[in-house]
Amino acid sequence: MALTGLQINKLLPGTNCKECGSNTCLAFAMKLAARKAQITECPYASEEAHRILFEATEPPVRAVYFGPNKKFVVGEETVLYRHEKAFVHPPRIGLHILETDSDMLFEEKLDAAVNYTYHRVGEEFGIDCIALTCEKNNDLFVNRAETVWNRCNKPLVLNCNDVNSVLRVCEKIANSGSILCCSIENCDQFIEIAQKYNFALSLHVNTLDELFTKVTEMRNRGFFQIFLQFTTYSLSEHFLTNTIVRSAAIKYGIKSLGFPFLRFVQSGDIWESAIESITEILKYGGIIILPNFDPALLASLFTLRMNAYSDPQKPIQVDPNIYLIGDPTKNSPVFVTTNFSLTYFVVSGEIENSGISAYLVVPECEGMSVLTAWAAGKFTAPKIASFINEKKLTDMLETKRLIIPGYVAQISGELSELLPEWDILVGPQEASDIESFVKSRLL
Ligand code: SF4
Repeated sequence: MALTGLQINKLLPGTNCKECGSNTCLAFAMKLAARKAQITECPYASEEAHRILFEATEPPVRAVYFGPNKKFVVGEETVLYRHEKAFVHPPRIGLHILETDSDMLFEEKLDAAVNYTYHRVGEEFGIDCIALTCEKNNDLFVNRAETVWNRCNKPLVLNCNDVNSVLRVCEKIANSGSILCCSIENCDQFIEIAQKYNFALSLHVNTLDELFTKVTEMRNRGFFQIFLQFTTYSLSEHFLTNTIVRSAAIKYGIKSLGFPFLRFVQSGDIWESAIESITEILKYGGIIILPNFDPALLASLFTLRMNAYSDPQKPIQVDPNIYLIGDPTKNSPVFVTTNFSLTYFVVSGEIENSGISAYLVVPECEGMSVLTAWAAGKFTAPKIASFINEKKLTDMLETKRLIIPGYVAQISGELSELLPEWDILVGPQEASDIESFVKSRLL
C-alpha cells in the first residue's frame, strides 16, 4: 500500500542536511510519496527505510525476469481486468520436450523452436523457451538440455527431480537465464542452485496453503524470482485457481501469491490443449508450455495474446509516413489510408498482392480505422492534402494519381480542389477488392 509523505518522513533521519537536493527531509518525503525521487538519493536513509519503501512500491504481482541477459519479463500486473488499465507483460510461450521423445520428434521440436515465426501487424512472434522434462534417463536429459541450449539459445524450463542432473545442466547453460521446476520437498536445494546461476524457480504445489507458506518462506530468504505452478484436475479448477490467486494478490495485497504462473498444458486432444492455453492467456498466464508444436494453434494464441495485451486506450498504430510498396517510380500510383495498424497491414498486403509497385500515404489518424477517423475529423481532405504537401510528394512524381478508400468517396471533390495537379480516384471500399481495382483501373 502506498505511504503518505508524513509516514515516509518518519523513516528519514530528520537532519535536514539538504544532500538529497531538498531543503528538508519532509520535502524529500513528499517527493518520494509522489514518486518524483528515489530513496537512494538520501545517503543517510537506513536499511529499514529502504526495505519499507521498497515493499510499499512493490507491484502486487512481482516482475520475474528470465532468458539470456534477462530479456524476458512477465508479471508486474496491477489490474484484474484489461479494461481497468491494461495488462503489461504478455505470457511467454514454450514448447515441451520430454527426454523420452524419440530422436525424430526431438529434432522436429527443436527445428520448430529455432525456425518458427509468426508475423502479425508488423510484429514477429516465436517460441520463447523450451521446457525439458526428465522422466527416467538422467544422462539423456543432460545431453538434450545442452543440445537445446546450443541450438536454440533460448531459456530452458528444467523439469527434473534429480538435483545432481540439474546441477550438471546448469553448469552447461549458465548464461541462459533458465527456470528450474521444484516442489515443496526439494525447493530449498533448488533455491541454492537458482541463486548460484541467477535462474528463476517454478514452485509446483498441490494446495494454496502449501503455496502461501513456502513462498512466504522464500520471500523471507530474499528470493523473489518465482513462478507459481499448480496441480489442477479440470479446466474449471484451473480457471478458478488462477483467478483466486491473482485476485488475492491484486485485490487483497497478499504478496506471497503475487507472482506469475507457469503452466504445462496437458497433451492429448488438440481442442482441450487449445482451450487450456486460451484460458491461460486470458486468465493471467505467465509462461505457457505447449505439449506439441502446432502452427495453427500457435497463430491463434499469438493473435489472442496480442489482442488481450494491447492497451485498450491506445489503438495499435503505425507511424505516419509514405510507405513504398515494391519498387515505385515517378509514375506509380499513390494509395492513402489511415495509420490503424490492422488497416495499414491489410491495405499494404493487398496492394502487394496486386503485383504493382505503389506509394502508400499514411497520415496521422490517431490509430483509427478509415470510417472512424473520417467521422472524427482525422481523415479529411485538408489533412490528407497537407500531409502530401508536407512530404513534397507532388514534386517527386510525374504521374499524380491518388486512390482514396471507397468509404470516403465524399472527400474526393474537396481533395481535387486542394490538390489540383492530382487525379483523385475513388478506390474500393474493401481492401480485398484492391487487386481487381488495380487490374481494371490502373493497368
Ligand atoms: S539527504 Fe536525507 S537526511 Fe538529508 S535532507 Fe535529504 S532526506 Fe533528510
